[in-house]
Amino acid sequence: MINRKSRDEIKRMRHAGHIVALVHQEMKKVVEPGISTKELDNIAMKIIKENKAIPTFLGYAGFPASICTSINEQIVHGIPSENVILKEGDIIAIDVGATYGGMVGDSAWSYAVGEISEDKKRLMRVTEESLMAGIAKMRAGNVLDDISGAIEDVANREKLGIVRRYGGHGVGHSMHEDPFLFNYRVGDKTPIKSGMVIAIEPMLNLGGDDVIVLDDEWTVVTKDGMPSAHFEHTVLATDGDPILMTTLMD
Ligand code: MG
Ligand code: MG
Repeated sequence: MINRKSRDEIKRMRHAGHIVALVHQEMKKVVEPGISTKELDNIAMKIIKENKAIPTFLGYAGFPASICTSINEQIVHGIPSENVILKEGDIIAIDVGATYGGMVGDSAWSYAVGEISEDKKRLMRVTEESLMAGIAKMRAGNVLDDISGAIEDVANREKLGIVRRYGGHGVGHSMHEDPFLFNYRVGDKTPIKSGMVIAIEPMLNLGGDDVIVLDDEWTVVTKDGMPSAHFEHTVLATDGDPILMTTLMD
């Protein structure tokens, strides 16, 4: 069942999303060659706790960290480690979740580490564009497939692979609520209504669609080893324009 959030729930979610955005603001500054993904995790955890929120991912299905850090061919769910050091030319997707007042904000962003290749720049630019195209369809009166199709069209235009096993999701009292949102058309005619909140999160690949889960049972990588990018916002549908919940508040 897809629930619609009350005014009070939305207020708390907006605050959770602001805290997630604070983490991303800091990640943007500290991502550089030489830093370990464990250090990134420590910084994120500190910001979340200082803001009286809970790191949503920590302990979720046994996940051992506060953020997911996925580098290059890693798509999602990479585990921070002191042994993983960022190097020039990498791209890193950082996924952040914060729970405030019982409500969750969820947002991922991909970052360049120093100078990156033109191909990686294009991958990141287009994946972000596909997120924005999907968000623009998050309006009462549309259906879920409108969001999925908008993402798919951008990916297809640039001949990028689409990760099909993972996708967006309702979010609120818990991180994963109904509905599941595909990043390509599946014919889902579920109507979008005001008060619905969905984490929209395209994952696009420079190569093919296929993915593998590594032996750590978390890290998802592209089968062909080509780079992948991931962008995600938590988004509220209204009777007018969609509202981004995971940006900084004024
Ligand atoms: Mg996320
Ligand atoms: Mg998510």
